[in-house]
Amino acid sequence: MIELDNVSKYFGDTRVLDGVTGKVNRGEIFAIIGPSGSGKSTLLRLIDLLDTPTGGAIRISGTEIHAQHEKDLSIRRMMGMVFQKPAVFNATVAENVAVGLRFRGASKSEIDARIGEALDTVGLASYRERRARTLSGGEMQRVALARAMVIEPEILLLDEPTANLDPVSVAMIENLVVRINRDLGTTIVFSTHDMYQGQRLAHRIGVLMNGVFSQVGTPREVFTLPASREVARFVGIEN
Ligand code: ATP
Ligand code: MG
Repeated sequence: MIELDNVSKYFGDTRVLDGVTGKVNRGEIFAIIGPSGSGKSTLLRLIDLLDTPTGGAIRISGTEIHAQHEKDLSIRRMMGMVFQKPAVFNATVAENVAVGLRFRGASKSEIDARIGEALDTVGLASYRERRARTLSGGEMQRVALARAMVIEPEILLLDEPTANLDPVSVAMIENLVVRINRDLGTTIVFSTHDMYQGQRLAHRIGVLMNGVFSQVGTPREVFTLPASREVARFVGIEN
């Protein structure tokens, strides 16, 4: 479904990604794990067509994507993304969730119904008319997730979806991720520097280090058969 073919990304002379190759299957939960600064957010932004690779190719359902191409807007609309620092704008929770639907020209009654469903799913039904800026971090994170989900994307990209949240909010978001994948068949790619979260949620993990996937495998493979000393060190099983 998502193919990364030797993807590189430089910012000026700074090499961030240097030949990332891998594949995310349809219906899979795939975790990108790696230390801070390893390029997780950069890679997700490339997949979400927010930036262009310096080299290599990204294909979604077989089509190579290019951030500049008009026609790729339709591919972008298949995807929902939740950013590492979720931004809400100064309006009600409902308005914040509705943006993607308005953009797609949905009718008012459809928008109302979908907002209700999405807020129910993330446990914020009673927050519908609250000003989004007055929410806690975890609540904002859930609004951002509702906003991404409400368009029923085929692919959901989550950049550190639980960073800086308390354990209760973490558990809630993690349950949601599993449920969205299970009930809707949504392909989910998320990044985390928490390898245990990768282990808990993902069908497969890509370990991003030094600009490449040092290893791609099931959590069991990565944790029991790390491909290198560096991976072993990162997953904390080096003796
Ligand atoms: P974290 O776990 O802290 O979120 P990350 O793995 O998501 O880190 P990125 O945000 O992708 O890492 O950043 C990778 C590297 O690229 C960092 O060194 C960062 O400073 C650099 N970088 C990212 N975006 C830009 C940019 N627009 N211009 C210059 N450098 C950038
Ligand atoms: Mg990041």
